[in-house]
This record gives sequence, structure tokens and C-alpha cells, in this order.
Amino acid sequence: MTRIIVLASRNEGKLTELRSLLSSLDLSVVSSFDAGYKLSIAENGTTFVENACTKAETVSKALDCWAVADDSGLEVDYLQGMPGVHSARYAGNQGDDSLNNEKLLSVLAGVHKEARNARFVSVIALARPLQKTVCFEGICEGTILTELRGQGGFGYDALFLPQGEQESFAEMSAERKNLISHRAIAMAKLREHLGKL
Ligand code: IMP
Repeated sequence: MTRIIVLASRNEGKLTELRSLLSSLDLSVVSSFDAGYKLSIAENGTTFVENACTKAETVSKALDCWAVADDSGLEVDYLQGMPGVHSARYAGNQGDDSLNNEKLLSVLAGVHKEARNARFVSVIALARPLQKTVCFEGICEGTILTELRGQGGFGYDALFLPQGEQESFAEMSAERKNLISHRAIAMAKLREHLGKL
């Protein structure tokens, strides 16, 4: 029997990505909205793990189903890990990518290349009824550029040069990004775990 997994998100991009990644498994992935959970879940935890677990467990309990949720963001060493869990609203407005990038550039103005280390972190939580929630983490190390480079992607992609790469996340193809990104690494771990269940 095909097992249903509910993704605690309304983001179509995440849904497509998860479906494609899990396509070889006997699973059907649906969004929490389509599965009947229409409320939004506050992301006010202090860690990615906390936020991902809260989202997955809320949906799993409400619908009595297997649920996955992810939380991600950018950690900059010079800023002691900021913007971190605040990445989406760093400059004040939720999801305003260009303002967020502007703010990041301005707080790092004059900071040397060697001191601009950063990483994208993704945590994916899998919650199942009566089971302990498990989390999978993916990290992509890199540096923050001194100006925007590239048109693709979203969020901080145009300011992030992954370690060992010549192109920013916004300059490289989606295929390349999906091979090396923090989310791809976390999702690969989730896939391996689901394959064993
Ligand atoms: P969320 O996990 O979808 O809530 O994403 C949090 C925020 O982190 C996004 O709004 C982006 O600002 C940033 N972020 C997460 N992953 C990426 C990425 O792959 N590229 C660029 N920005 C990202």
C-alpha cells in the first residue's frame, strides 16, 4: 500500500522537490493544506531543529499521519551565526529577499574576504504518530560575496559562493545547486531513512 507523507508547507517548490527526490519510493507526498490542515504554524523557535520539529509534529498530530517539515537559513560567522532562523525576515519584512540582501551587504561592508565565511543550513524533521521525531541536517559551506552575482534562485543565492565553486548559487544551474545545496544533502539523508522504514 502506498504510504502518504504530508509536507508541512504550502510552498509548491518544496513539494515538487520532495516528490522528485522520493520518486523511487512507494510514497505519495501531499501538502498539509491539501491534506486538510489550513492553519499557519508559527516559526518562533530559536533553532532550525526546533522550528522543523514543531511544524512536522503539529501536522502529524492534527492529521494522525506521517509528516515532514523543513527549516533553513544562512549563518554568517562574522555575525555570530546571524541571520540564522531569522533569515527570511532579517531586514524586517517577511520574505523580502532584496532588502535582506541589502542589509547583509551593508553589515558586512569593509569586512575582508577571509572573514566572510558562512553556511546554509537545512533541517528536515520527520514526525510519525507515537514515534520519536527524527531530524536530518544538511550544510553547505561558502562565503558571502561583496556584490550580488547572478539572477537565478531566491533568498541569499546571489550573495553566496559555495566552497570550491566558481559560480554563486544564483549563477549556477538549478541542477548544480540541487546537487550540492544544504537542502539536497538533508533530503538525501531523509530519503535514505525512509527507504529503511
Ligand atoms: P525557509 O526554511 O523556507 O523558511 O527559508 C528561510 C530563509 O532562508 C529563506 O527565506 C531564505 O532567505 C533563506 N534560504 C534558505 N535556503 C536558501 C537557499 O537555498 N538559497 C537562498 N536563501 C535561502
